[in-house]
Amino acid sequence: ATSAAPLATLDASKLQITKNPNPKTPLPNDQLVFGQTFTDHILKIQWNKTKGWDAPKIKPYGPISLDPSACVFHYAFELFEGLKAYRDSNDQLRIFRPNKNMERMNKSADRIVLPTFDSEELIKCIAELIKIDKHLVPKEKGYSLYLRPTLIGTTAGLGVGIPTDALLYVITSPVGPYYSTGFKAVKLEATDYAVRAWPGGVGDKKLGANYAPCIKPQLEAASRGYQQNLWLFGEEKYITEVGTMNVFFVFEDKATGKKELVTAPLDGTILEGVTRDSILELARARLNPEEWTVSERYYSIYEVEERAAKGELVEAFGSGTAAVVSPIKEIGFHGKDINVPLLPGQQFGALTAQVADWIAKIQYGEEEYKDWSYVV
Ligand code: PMP
Repeated sequence: ATSAAPLATLDASKLQITKNPNPKTPLPNDQLVFGQTFTDHILKIQWNKTKGWDAPKIKPYGPISLDPSACVFHYAFELFEGLKAYRDSNDQLRIFRPNKNMERMNKSADRIVLPTFDSEELIKCIAELIKIDKHLVPKEKGYSLYLRPTLIGTTAGLGVGIPTDALLYVITSPVGPYYSTGFKAVKLEATDYAVRAWPGGVGDKKLGANYAPCIKPQLEAASRGYQQNLWLFGEEKYITEVGTMNVFFVFEDKATGKKELVTAPLDGTILEGVTRDSILELARARLNPEEWTVSERYYSIYEVEERAAKGELVEAFGSGTAAVVSPIKEIGFHGKDINVPLLPGQQFGALTAQVADWIAKIQYGEEEYKDWSYVV
C-alpha cells in the first residue's frame, strides 16, 4: 500500500522572488489616502488539499485570475487581517504585534475550513515583502505601511463544501494618520435595529462576510448626522463595538472618586482587537490602581445614559489598527443625544491622549515593550 506524501507546511525558506520591473516612485505623504495606494509587490501562497502549502512567491503587484465559480465569490470563503509596519528613527521597519494578527487569522481560517499555517513562517515571508518595498514605506510619525493578509477559497464549482484549493496573499499600502489634522472626535448612533454579531456567531472572526452587511446601517446613521454605529446587543442593549473598532468608556464614581476604564468582554460577539488587547495590558500595567479599575465587563447604553446624567461619564474612544484610538464626543440613542466630555478646547479626553501616546511610542520604536515590535 502507498501512503500519501505528508502535506507541505508553509515554509518561508522556499520563498521565490520576482521583482517588479516597473517600480513606483513614492507619492508625497500628503497624497496618501487610506487603502488607495499599493506597493510594487504582492506575496502569494497557494494551498491545495493533497499537496499542502506551495512555495511562497513574491511577485509584481497585479490582478488575480480566478474561475467565476470559485467558492470565494459564492459562499464567502474569505478572511483577512489588518496590521501595520512602522519606520523608526534608525530607518528600521517594525511590525506591531504580528503574532497576534497571525493567531487571529488562523482562528478565522479554522472557522471557515480554510487551511491554517505556521504563523512564524508567514511573518518571515511578510518581512521579506516589506523589505523589497521599503522605499515605499513613508517616513514621519503618524505614517506607516498597512498590511493586508487575505485568505480565499479558490475551488471552482458551485457545490457548497470544503475548499480544496486556497490562496493566501498579502498586499501592502502606505498610509497616513487617520486624522490628518490631529484627533477629530466622532458622533455615534447607538444601533439596536440592526445587529452586527450574536452569541454562537462569527463576530469574533475577521471574515469579509461580517463587513458588507454593516454598511447600510452606517449609511442610515450618516443620514442622521452620525459617523459610525455603536453596535448594541440584546434586550439589555449591551455595548459591543463601534463601526470597525472596539470601544472603551471611562466612568468616574462620584462617591469614591475612583475611575474605571471599561470595555466589553471577549464573549465571541466582538472582534479580539490587537489594539484593545494592547490598551488593556498597558492600562493595567501603568494606571495607578488606587485611582483606576480596568474592567472587561458587560455594560449597556442605559448605564452610559445614566452615568452621563450623573456627571460620571468622563470619556469614550474607539480602538483599532487604522486610527489606534478615535475619540467619541456624542452618542445618539432613541432620539436623544448623550454628550461625552472632551478636554476644554480639544477633540480628545486625557486618557485617550495618554493611551495613543503609549502605543505610538512602542510602534515607532521610541520605546521597547516586550516583544511587541517585530524588527524586519
Ligand atoms: N472590531 C472590528 C469589527 C474590526 O474590524 C477591527 C479592525 N480589525 C477592530 C475591532 C479592531 O481590531 P484591531 O485593534 O486588531 O485592529
